Amino acid sequence: MGNVGPNRLFPIAESIRCLRVSEVYMQKKTRVLVTGAGGFIGHHLTRYLTERGYWVRGVDIKGPEFEATTADEFKLLDLRQWESCVEATKDVDQVYGLAANMGGIGFIENNKAVIIRDNTLINLQSIEAARVNGVKQYLYTSSACIYPAYLQKDTNVTPLKEEDAYPADAEDGYGWEKLYMERICRHYREDFGLDTRIVRFHNIFGPQGTYDGGREKSPAAICRKVAMADDHDTIEVWGDGEQTRSYCYIDDCVEGIYRLMQSSYVEPLNLGQDRMLSINELVDIIAGIAGKKISKRYDLTKPQGVRGRNSDNTRLKEALEWEPGISLEDGLQRTYAWIADELRTQSMEIVDSTYSTPSNVINHDLGAAKTRSTK
Ligand code: NAD
Repeated sequence: MGNVGPNRLFPIAESIRCLRVSEVYMQKKTRVLVTGAGGFIGHHLTRYLTERGYWVRGVDIKGPEFEATTADEFKLLDLRQWESCVEATKDVDQVYGLAANMGGIGFIENNKAVIIRDNTLINLQSIEAARVNGVKQYLYTSSACIYPAYLQKDTNVTPLKEEDAYPADAEDGYGWEKLYMERICRHYREDFGLDTRIVRFHNIFGPQGTYDGGREKSPAAICRKVAMADDHDTIEVWGDGEQTRSYCYIDDCVEGIYRLMQSSYVEPLNLGQDRMLSINELVDIIAGIAGKKISKRYDLTKPQGVRGRNSDNTRLKEALEWEPGISLEDGLQRTYAWIADELRTQSMEIVDSTYSTPSNVINHDLGAAKTRSTK
């Protein structure tokens, strides 16, 4: 008589038991809000969390642009409105706050008032609504832009440690709001017992990020320019290309955010790679991936941000017993392939649209924001 265990003898009783187990499991699922879930990092984080069995509510003023969300629930809400923040943070245990009006250096240097107004409204009201709704944990996404300009004047910059943030001289507009919100998080933790986490990202890149329109960052902008160039073409570089940065691939970024939320570390923490290179070197790597010989034309009138920036990961390694591991070349390979493919599809759609009606257009207008010419 083969395999006759309790499952075979009592199939209905067993399936009821399984149902109950899964109900209990469902009831116990941690409920998470990801704000900015229609954006680059928020979209990837949503997928990471749903794959790990979390119940996720995504909130944004727009849906993800390149593929469907995996969120259990997705609400289109403007988090500059208090009522939206209350609705978004209802019945969740944790908030990952990624909503922000932001973009690359051209965008943040030319839209300071809009950025500081929108992001203050979004973040201050989101954390207050989280408190009112009894949320247990709140993660705030800060930036390397909080670090003082006076420490970032050389291309061969000393990597930035968390304690270097003060005396403060943050990036005007965008960076000051981030630094101010970091302090709000600390006060909410100390005075209201809201268990906050603060992460300072250093240039996150990867597939499904904005690559045109003026909000894109340097790796995506360069991938796009190289993909659109022919072999032996020249592309435009902002500044003299000697400015230095470090870049962290998106998969490492979401893993780092997740690890930080699980940890007990409550002070601001860098999350980035600590391999520094110049924009010129970045162009050369991407051209190599594309298999093209590319020359550079420098536009010194364009904004280029600080002269040098790198992440000191000493504390990251101590706090999370982990550090980003995906190499720049590997990350750029995947990003370049995705952007080149997007551009191919886009040009095919332009040809197709001559014969068909226009498809859905996502309205990304946040009011008075000016999008400048792309990097
Ligand atoms: P993103 O622009 O792709 O995503 C932000 C999302 O917030 C967008 O989808 C946008 O529509 C949404 N949003 C804007 N205004 C909103 C509003 N009023 N209500 C609801 N949603 C709104 O940016 P990202 O790269 O995913 O960045 C996520 C977070 O990480 C932000 O806080 C950003 O400042 C921070 N950060 C990112 C980087 C990076 O390299 N990508 C570096 C430093 C800090």
